[in-house]
Amino acid sequence: MIITAVDVVRVAVPAYDPPFDWRYGLPGSEPAADGAWLLIRTDAGITGLSFALRGAMLQDVVDRRLRAELVGQDPLAREYLWHRVWEVDRIDRFPVFVQGIVDVALWDIAGKAVELPVYQLLGSFRESIPAYASTVTFGSIEEYLDVADQCLELGYPAIKLHAWGDARKDARLSTALREHVGDDIPLMYDGSAGFDLLDATYLGHALSDAGYLWYEEPMKEFSVTAYKWLGERVAVPLIVAEVAEGVHMKTADFIASGCAAAVRTSTGLRGGFTGAMRTAHLADSFLLRAEVHGPGIASRHLCMSISNTTYYESLIDSNPVRRPADVDDSGYVHAPTLPCVGFEETWTEGAPAELVAALTD
Ligand SMILES: [Mg+2]
Repeated sequence: MIITAVDVVRVAVPAYDPPFDWRYGLPGSEPAADGAWLLIRTDAGITGLSFALRGAMLQDVVDRRLRAELVGQDPLAREYLWHRVWEVDRIDRFPVFVQGIVDVALWDIAGKAVELPVYQLLGSFRESIPAYASTVTFGSIEEYLDVADQCLELGYPAIKLHAWGDARKDARLSTALREHVGDDIPLMYDGSAGFDLLDATYLGHALSDAGYLWYEEPMKEFSVTAYKWLGERVAVPLIVAEVAEGVHMKTADFIASGCAAAVRTSTGLRGGFTGAMRTAHLADSFLLRAEVHGPGIASRHLCMSISNTTYYESLIDSNPVRRPADVDDSGYVHAPTLPCVGFEETWTEGAPAELVAALTD
């Protein structure tokens, strides 16, 4: 099989509905955007798909660099092409999503070629997994406790807080939530890089006292040393390397520092399925968990294929709480069924018109 063309199909993406907030200082839900589908076409008549929310950026790197790297190559040579994208990155300094978007489309081709879901090509470990309720930021402790009650009622077995990014307020919230739900519900906290070492340490002590399962990204992930020091100061397990660039190589540095109780992995921030699985296997070699970042069809494949993972992240974006359609009433997410990545499964209102036109060209 040979790649014959690489196209970018720009699409308008409406603003996220309902809009929501992250912590103080971070923009909240995505505004209306210029997205794009990446189409990698082959001489076998199979077209691999992948999606980016940054259409103009994708168009630019495809037109200047990636089309020339991909056309004429074997789309099953994923390892080779993954390294080619890394090689070109040295001169182009790609946005982090670019490494993953090519790889996801290549796995989509592979799935379509042999008519198997990607998680089965990666090697399946399970057919379903529990989802944790991953909150956006709500207005008060009372509202969080109400949201938590709704999540538990809807079947979620665990809850992760995104909160205000104020160490004292977030500590009070974390403690109140533990007292509210009791000792048996796993709780996690995600700081979205909001703190320096002093505040991260203060909050970490509160999370330790409240028995939180993990403490995620309290600080910017540029300094491995700061995380090493935080790990020496607090007892709560740190889960690290969600956004730090350099995929498995940077994750390895976090692990080597001794700070990691677990690591994050994803197609979007860890170089597609290929980089995400490398990261998971790296963690596994140290008996560390690799927990999958973010919801979506690609994350569902990863959750079914990574042995050392325990949850799917399900975003709770509103109050009243809406349980997304991919989570069942027992709080479980199930394996994708389409013989590919399966973006098609997520088009509840049909495929985008621009994409239909491009696919029937
Ligand atoms: Mg996170």
